[in-house]
Amino acid sequence: MWTLYRAKHRVLDKAENQNCNSYNKLHSYGHIVKERNPGSMAYLQTITPVPGGPTLFQRFFLNFTAQKDGFLYGCRPFIRLDACHLKGKFSRVLMSAVGLDANNGVFPIALCVAEGESKQSWGWFLEQLYLHIGLEETRRVTFMSDRQKGVLDTVVRQWPRATNRFCVRHIIANLQAKYRGPLNGVYVWDATNKSNKREFLEEIEKLKLVNIDAYNYVMGIPLKSWCIHEFDTHVKSEHTTNNISENFNSWVDELRSLPALHMLESIRRKLMKRANKRLESTKKWDGNVPPAVCKKLAKMQDKGRFVTVLCASETKFEVKDELIYYNVDLENYTCDCGFWQVSGIPCKHAMAVINTKRLNSHDFVHKYLTKEYYLKTYSHVINPIPNEFLWPEIEHIEVLPPMKKKMSGRPKKKQKNEQR
Ligand SMILES: [Zn+2]
Repeated sequence: MWTLYRAKHRVLDKAENQNCNSYNKLHSYGHIVKERNPGSMAYLQTITPVPGGPTLFQRFFLNFTAQKDGFLYGCRPFIRLDACHLKGKFSRVLMSAVGLDANNGVFPIALCVAEGESKQSWGWFLEQLYLHIGLEETRRVTFMSDRQKGVLDTVVRQWPRATNRFCVRHIIANLQAKYRGPLNGVYVWDATNKSNKREFLEEIEKLKLVNIDAYNYVMGIPLKSWCIHEFDTHVKSEHTTNNISENFNSWVDELRSLPALHMLESIRRKLMKRANKRLESTKKWDGNVPPAVCKKLAKMQDKGRFVTVLCASETKFEVKDELIYYNVDLENYTCDCGFWQVSGIPCKHAMAVINTKRLNSHDFVHKYLTKEYYLKTYSHVINPIPNEFLWPEIEHIEVLPPMKKKMSGRPKKKQKNEQR
């Protein structure tokens, strides 16, 4: 096992050594990105730890204009923030800001290779994002995170009008670590997914009865950051977990051992190909909404078979679901259950009304979840970039790789073995 570990690291070291020069090429890369994709942002930050000493790579921010425009014109104002460690001997992380397209597909907005996760690196990334995207001037954005170190502070500082949303699985994991109880997580999970206050309170009261400390812990976290019924309704996303960034991290996983430049170029090519593929796929769609939305509508229609519709006017209705009456308003796209407002997709009560009136459910989906907005997301092209030998010579100070990782864990074992 240990031989395999050393052999693997010898290969990684060789790859890193061969490509140390890749950090020095990021100036030229930034230049060619902006030349071939006007409006894009590629910004290299360096550091000189010792006055008069060598200049080292610190961070590189990358946002293609196609990703910026695709997000601004085609996506919901919802951004998932995450970071994953990169492989190799140098200390690096890949930070990402990822949006969602109308089909609930992952849409990376901006990337940053940084020296590590800290308040400073998150602050720098979010500052560049704010400067380049500038979304808050027109629409409030909701960020989702795992409450990583530094993320919350920097979101508040850099994006003062933004709201924070936390991954519920992360909240439940913290809860389980602090307070034992086999059903604690189940009660929190059920409560978080309720789209109105009455049902939320019914569920969370169950936690209060079995463990008051656990109840106080979760209720101490702002409800608007983890409970669907308190989410900002203009975002049109009911997502409570970080699935989207996990999808992104697995999408780039095979590239994480590459040097920064080659990894970023590989991600660009993947993005370029995928945008084209997704655009082409729309030719096979039926109707005005993407397949993922069609699936949700079908689910709501199925659930709506068991409710009773009472008509008050052409647009206003009362829908009886078991013992409760919900008001549905087709003109304002609202239902008392709250699901339609938060998700942008008609709930089971609204679907029952739509079916009774023999209307087309696609006409009652929010614009962020339509084919029109999907096309807006992917109609901006990431232009090809020529091979390195065709890049123009740019005069700049020599940039060396970042600091090496502090090795821990395995080397301790090595020391023990050597002492035997
Ligand atoms: Zn409803």
